[in-house]
Amino acid sequence: MVTDCHIHISPVEMFRPEALAAMKRKRQNFDQIVEFCHSPKLFLAHLDACGIDRAALINYVAPEVIGFTSEVNEWIARYVQTDPKRLLSCGSIHPKHSANVLADMEQILRLGIRLIKIHPPHQLLYPNDYLRGVKELEIIYRAAEANGVPVMIHTGTSIFPGARNKYGDPIHVDDVAVDFPKLKILLAHGGRPLWMDTAFFLVRRHPNVFLDLSGIPPKTLLEYFPRLEEIASKSLFGTDWPGPGVPDIKQNLDDFRRLPLSEAAKTQMLERTAELVWG
Ligand SMILES: [Zn+2]
Repeated sequence: MVTDCHIHISPVEMFRPEALAAMKRKRQNFDQIVEFCHSPKLFLAHLDACGIDRAALINYVAPEVIGFTSEVNEWIARYVQTDPKRLLSCGSIHPKHSANVLADMEQILRLGIRLIKIHPPHQLLYPNDYLRGVKELEIIYRAAEANGVPVMIHTGTSIFPGARNKYGDPIHVDDVAVDFPKLKILLAHGGRPLWMDTAFFLVRRHPNVFLDLSGIPPKTLLEYFPRLEEIASKSLFGTDWPGPGVPDIKQNLDDFRRLPLSEAAKTQMLERTAELVWG
């Protein structure tokens, strides 16, 4: 079962105009993306055509930069009902936009959300801000850890208007990995393009930290991570489609399959690590 651990299927109507413009730039087929966001059946057919069996559908609350509110959680929970084996829901709670984070976390669990996303450059916080008074973050991590729900943390830069990139340094995830040792943490984009060394270190250092390879063009992947083969057992294939700079899922998959890595390592990253994370 080939898994793409990072695809953005979200309520497009909620985008802020500036964010929507960034999504549409250099993309002729935006209407098709809108159709996929409205129809899980059409999107599943597209995944079939791309050779993807299963996908995690990333959603997160980021009203300031992207426009998404906590409504994304119910939206994606409803969307994946068409085929919950192939479509994994990813939702989120924004520590600073939640009136009752415990209640919101219970709601996330009740909805059956399979992954929680923290996006520091878009949510305008450090992932370890619970050490500086943002107790809501600690509650989110604790509940996710206790319930076996993995957390994906965006690392690396973002070009969306209003994104603040200081929050994208993966070193701040080190605290989270130490303080929540049973929490499965996915480092999205491996700190690309500024902090790959930090990401590589964290994946090797912490048994609970995994590498989400999305957003890195497969053709340059080995330039970013020359020792990828060594951490294949903790790395997951993903595309970040239809994010800026990711034109096509199938092209990424084909390019990934052509990398000069062992077949075992490729199968591990395409299938097995995701099975470890989600079963
Ligand atoms: Zn993404």
